[in-house]
Amino acid sequence: MKFCPNCEVRLTKTDTGLRCTKCDYTEGGTTTTKQVKEEKEVSEFNVLEESDGQETLPTIKIDCEKCGHDQAVWWMLQTRSADEPTTQFYRCIKCNFTWRNYA
Ligand SMILES: [Zn+2]
Ligand SMILES: [Zn+2]
Repeated sequence: MKFCPNCEVRLTKTDTGLRCTKCDYTEGGTTTTKQVKEEKEVSEFNVLEESDGQETLPTIKIDCEKCGHDQAVWWMLQTRSADEPTTQFYRCIKCNFTWRNYA
């Protein structure tokens, strides 16, 4: 267990890390970075759902991982960090399940 460096009150665990209830000193754990990254990936999906018209995307013959339908639309997306490769996304035209290809 950890104590506040300012007033030596025991730190309370919160969603964002450890927090001193007396002086509001906060200390983020190593898990904070991971949480932010996951939220970023989710929002990427949301942006695509809103901005991409499904009918304008090309289709490909591929088995849906969820319902087994054999046709999906696909598109490429360059992730924000330049050292990562372009990701290919698929979306089932039947159940709208979206997944990505890391190849
Ligand atoms: Zn404190
Ligand atoms: Zn499907």
